[in-house]
Amino acid sequence: MAEKVDTLIHARWLVPVEPARQVIEGASIALRGGRIVSVGERDQISVEADEEFSLDDHVLLPGFVNAHGHAAMVLFRGYADDMRLQAWLDERIWPLEHAWVDQDFVRDGTELAIAEMLRAGTTCFSDMYYFPEAAARAACDAGLRAQITFPIVRFPNNWSRDADDCIHRGLALRDDLRSQRRLIVGFGPHATYTLEPKNLERIATYATELDAPVQIHLHETTAEVENAVKETGERPLDLVERVGLLGPTLQTVHMTQLTDADIETLAATDTAVVHCPQSNLKLASGIAPIAAMRRAGIRLGLGTDGAAGNNGLSMMREMNAASLLAKISNHDATELSAFDALHLATLGGAIALGLGDEIGSLVPGKSGDIIAIDLSELETQPVYNPISHLVYTACAHKVSHLWCEGELLMRERVLLTLDEDRVGAHARAWAERISKS
Ligand SMILES: [Zn+2]
Repeated sequence: MAEKVDTLIHARWLVPVEPARQVIEGASIALRGGRIVSVGERDQISVEADEEFSLDDHVLLPGFVNAHGHAAMVLFRGYADDMRLQAWLDERIWPLEHAWVDQDFVRDGTELAIAEMLRAGTTCFSDMYYFPEAAARAACDAGLRAQITFPIVRFPNNWSRDADDCIHRGLALRDDLRSQRRLIVGFGPHATYTLEPKNLERIATYATELDAPVQIHLHETTAEVENAVKETGERPLDLVERVGLLGPTLQTVHMTQLTDADIETLAATDTAVVHCPQSNLKLASGIAPIAAMRRAGIRLGLGTDGAAGNNGLSMMREMNAASLLAKISNHDATELSAFDALHLATLGGAIALGLGDEIGSLVPGKSGDIIAIDLSELETQPVYNPISHLVYTACAHKVSHLWCEGELLMRERVLLTLDEDRVGAHARAWAERISKS
């Protein structure tokens, strides 16, 4: 008798990401209890399934891992563009946050961001924003995977009084969410310029005790590094190292300003880096030396950053930008190939977030976090190699199905755990209120 599974998906192509560069034609994948039980050519897999999908023009791949963002800020999308980072924050974003950000804003904004991310194939995202309890609830309800890093800043804001208050609230949230399998709660120190060294020391102590992830914006711009040196005599990366934060649980975001010695330090301490190419391009922050970091063996993920700055949450756009930036900045068209970019957006991100054993590739034993992309449109014809299209030919709007831990969250582009009309209506209502103020 054939083995029994919950879900069996057949597709024209399957890109497992492990082994590297493999494309299986005429593929099937079987899932049971949320896990992958077999992957291969269709005639090699004989199972009996409760539910079967035949996706004849589609490519299956692991869901994207958006390793850095501020989901709720999507409600500020398009409010302020074409500004320098510090002016954008000081003059527009921070006053706007003070006026509007509360539980309802974060819930509605995170739902909108999740809807957009799911429709673009993201099954796991990392978040750093005020009222993280509202973001966590939105993620739980929608059913995708999330790393919620509660924000830590020294100044009073709508969510907390100071850095200690942030930590206190965040640790309570971590306790509350312990039983949520698809959620991880970690520390989100915003940056060295929004915290005191003593705050960072405290975070390092707690994170080590709890073995919890820490994500921080670091070396985003030259101004950040120069100001730190002028004011404290120390570069932000050196400060982070001095307080004991560097190490396998630290995820540093941006890292556009690095010396060769910095890259060696990151590699030696097994510190992860999250590359946000479109955010860095739009804010003219700089170019992270991805090629050199890859050669040094640093764990690298890819993130969209908040949609208030980089105005969308598509990981396919990020893969495209990452690949093109790596090529032009090294004057070498062979840098960051299509597969390398796909690896960054899937398994690379999973490993950077410490989830490499669980997600990021389609291999037996891993979680069934899978997306299907329809390549039947004229814009994606002909198909010689689907990996090329994923990175160089825009097809984010063709993600048709999405499973997280074997649970179907989108079928034929219809979200099954979010009411798209309600999410859209809330977004329009916020825009009306904000634009009248
Ligand atoms: Zn950010």
